[in-house]
Amino acid sequence: MLLVTLLCSCSKSEPLYQEQIFALGSLVEISLWGVDPALAAQASARLTEDFNRIHTTWHAWEPSALTRINEHLTRAAAFSVDAELIPLLTRARALSLASGGLFNPGIGKLLALWGFQSDERPNGPPPDAPAIAALVARHPGMADLHIDGTTLRSANPALQLDFGAIGQGYAVDIAIEHLRRLGIHNALVNASGDIRVIGKHGKRPWRIGIRDPRGPGILASIEMQGDESIVTSGDYERYFKYKGKRYSHILDPRSGYPVNGAASVTVLHDNAIVADAASTALLVAGANEWQGVARALGVKHVMRIAANGTVQMTPLLAQRLHFEAAPAPKVELVAPL
Ligand code: AMP
Ligand code: MG
Repeated sequence: MLLVTLLCSCSKSEPLYQEQIFALGSLVEISLWGVDPALAAQASARLTEDFNRIHTTWHAWEPSALTRINEHLTRAAAFSVDAELIPLLTRARALSLASGGLFNPGIGKLLALWGFQSDERPNGPPPDAPAIAALVARHPGMADLHIDGTTLRSANPALQLDFGAIGQGYAVDIAIEHLRRLGIHNALVNASGDIRVIGKHGKRPWRIGIRDPRGPGILASIEMQGDESIVTSGDYERYFKYKGKRYSHILDPRSGYPVNGAASVTVLHDNAIVADAASTALLVAGANEWQGVARALGVKHVMRIAANGTVQMTPLLAQRLHFEAAPAPKVELVAPL
């Protein structure tokens, strides 16, 4: 989960309908522009239902369709699942393979070992090195998940799925699709920082603030153009500190340890699920490695802020992003993706 804050310059005379619902373990904010109250209420009910269904289906540690899948995955036998589960599994598998396994929703065992599959934030100590190494050596990954129609099979008993990195993005894409079907064309959905907008906020575009990964405020803002999504992954979410060292909730599947090179990665893309998978993958990738991973994921708008404060950005995003904090940080422009 991530935090980007919406910049709102709302006034009472503007036909802006805003509602917050609590779902997927956090606040989801829905903003609708120029929609009559009855339709707004209908939309809000629909989205509440969507988010709740996704929560109960895909929860990684409360009993859910996903925990049942994970039980089966520990055994070699094939098993069948509801057809409605297949699109996310297929999409997650493809995104994971494209990211070279840096976005790897198959590392549920490692996430559990680190204590991140819990409603409480872990507080250390970190797990023992041999336990981490033993799980990494079993190489669980999405290539181990065989999907044939609605039949699944695991080629690796260490494979355990956790969609914490893309659950919000997946839900936001569905929410926008449902708003459209209801005839709503100017909206913003923000699931704890995973944002997608359609249309405009009246005469002006929807404007989004991007959080400073090391401070309390907004680092930069961007105006959204029509239908697009913006997602930030940061090491400031759900991290714990132990003996002065920060342990982020995003793990490098290659080492089994939390990322420590990057503080945050922001990705702008048409789909929230792609932006969400990419923001996680690029946070794991190194300073010279992320451009290749972004290219493989079809992502062109990226800002990566290293743990030491260095800001790298793609030219397309640099054209649109406006730094709010003064002085603006020095930006290293990378080659276009
Ligand atoms: P996000 O904030 O979108 O980057 O997602 C972070 C969440 O994704 C964590 O809380 C974990 O549940 C999960 N996660 C951590 N590391 C990875 C990884 N390398 N690949 C996929 N999911 C991960
Ligand atoms: Mg993500």
